[in-house]
Amino acid sequence: MPVTAPSLATAQQPGIASHAGGKDALAQRVILLLDRLSRLTRELQFAGGLNPAQWEALRFIAQANKYSRSPTALAEYLGATKGTVSQTLIALENKGLITRCKKTCDRRQVDLCLTDAGQAMLARDPMQTLEQASLEIADELGAEMVKGLTRLLHDLQARHQVVEFGVCQECSLFCVNSGNGSLDGADGACGSTGEAIDAVEKSKICINYKTVS
Ligand code: SF4
Repeated sequence: MPVTAPSLATAQQPGIASHAGGKDALAQRVILLLDRLSRLTRELQFAGGLNPAQWEALRFIAQANKYSRSPTALAEYLGATKGTVSQTLIALENKGLITRCKKTCDRRQVDLCLTDAGQAMLARDPMQTLEQASLEIADELGAEMVKGLTRLLHDLQARHQVVEFGVCQECSLFCVNSGNGSLDGADGACGSTGEAIDAVEKSKICINYKTVS
């Protein structure tokens, strides 16, 4: 489906931009822009023979840490039912993009992994268009945009009691390696499991993440 980039600076909808000035107008403007962006990014993800849910699942598996690469965690992350996620995973398996392995520490648990074909598919992720556009405004607005969007997301997740995924370096349970223990050069340890966390795992998203209050 051809995608036409919305003119975000001028896009308007009846009844939304009619409150000129003030916080109400700003809030309505944010709603409109997020709605337009989400529609556009959804359309972009009908690509490479995949649908948006399948692309999201591939991205999640690539970014999730060892505690989170499971069908249950994926369902939480997507806000989808286990049945819907199961269909998505079956489709990705049939295309040879992912595998389900048993975890070595607990054979009852499933570990989702990308295959080489899955890695190659992700290298052609249609969301790279958005990444390129973000890079162009990063110097000017990057830090402020990330701060504002992060706060908005956390606020909505808290209101709707959605599981907050996050990374070790921002987690209240992460214990930095002070060099006195037996962490063998790891960056730190998870305060929940006691396991060492290396630099790669530290930047991956986790279902057990706890925000710093
Ligand atoms: S420190 Fe937090 S984010 Fe990291 S593995 Fe532990 S619970 Fe997850």
